[in-house]
Amino acid sequence: MRICFIGLGTMGLPMALRLEEQDFELYGWDVNPSAGAPLKNHATTLSEAAADADVLITMLPEGAHVEATYQALLAPELPAGRLFMDCSTIDVETTKRLAGTVLDAGHGFVDAPVSGGHEGARAGTLSFMTGGDAHSMERARPVLHALGNKITEFGDAGAGQAAKACHNMICGITALGVCEAFALADSLGLDADSFFNLCKGAAAQSWILENRCPVPGPAPNAPASNGYSPGFAARLMAKDLRLAQAAATATGQETPFGSEAARRFTEFAEASGGDLDFSAIYATIRNS
Ligand code: NAD
Repeated sequence: MRICFIGLGTMGLPMALRLEEQDFELYGWDVNPSAGAPLKNHATTLSEAAADADVLITMLPEGAHVEATYQALLAPELPAGRLFMDCSTIDVETTKRLAGTVLDAGHGFVDAPVSGGHEGARAGTLSFMTGGDAHSMERARPVLHALGNKITEFGDAGAGQAAKACHNMICGITALGVCEAFALADSLGLDADSFFNLCKGAAAQSWILENRCPVPGPAPNAPASNGYSPGFAARLMAKDLRLAQAAATATGQETPFGSEAARRFTEFAEASGGDLDFSAIYATIRNS
């Protein structure tokens, strides 16, 4: 199976490397020409990467990037029968619209946003939440199983992004809770390592706590212990929390904690430039 992988950033590159290792014939493409250097086949143009690909995977920052990429892919009469798989986190409405365009052009479509960070991408232990028709899902499964160990199918196109918006709202709210607790622990004179180890093995345990501990030291591989290099950039966390708020507004469901998390991360991303890991928001919480 030949795969065109578009967007070789924090998540896309390790996912593409993982697929290469699993013996998929893979061609990568990124607007940043050096991003795909570690791959065996790194195309110089999008059309070169997409030529003869059975599956076209996108792992891009926002809906506008996915939309522009799909327009470019669909413009020059791409022969029908390809599978478009969007693993980016984008909004439900754009996903449904793009799915319609792709299906009308005679291709398959699956939205398959992920959780698990770059660590999970490299190890093939991502969690996928998917949306798509039965035929498209059947074609997507071999690729999804090569990249992840938990695939939850939620329904038609857009359902994966709906699940991802709710999932990341938990992550954003949890991240603020973890930051506040570490700030309070510090102000009470508690040792950060001891507090981390306590929480890790007690009811306060979470993936966010263990893998994105916001203070340098206790978790050596966490962004905080490595200059807050992402990880998951604060601008992307802010974007995801705004997606959840858009979904909440559309359905009329009140989400006051999600709303506050969206506000705090958006403010932080704007003030800091947004490129550090989201856990860097700790500095604004400890000092305020
Ligand atoms: P990133 O910013 O590190 O990487 C995005 C890549 O896309 C960059 O290399 C950029 O050059 C490239 N790009 C931008 N526009 C492009 C275009 N038009 N064509 C080709 N390449 C283009 O972002 P990331 O952290 O890898 O996240 C990608 C997506 O996955 C986002 O939607 C994010 O919300 C989601 N996500 C990220 C994580 C994480 O932990 N980082 C986890 C789950 C989901």
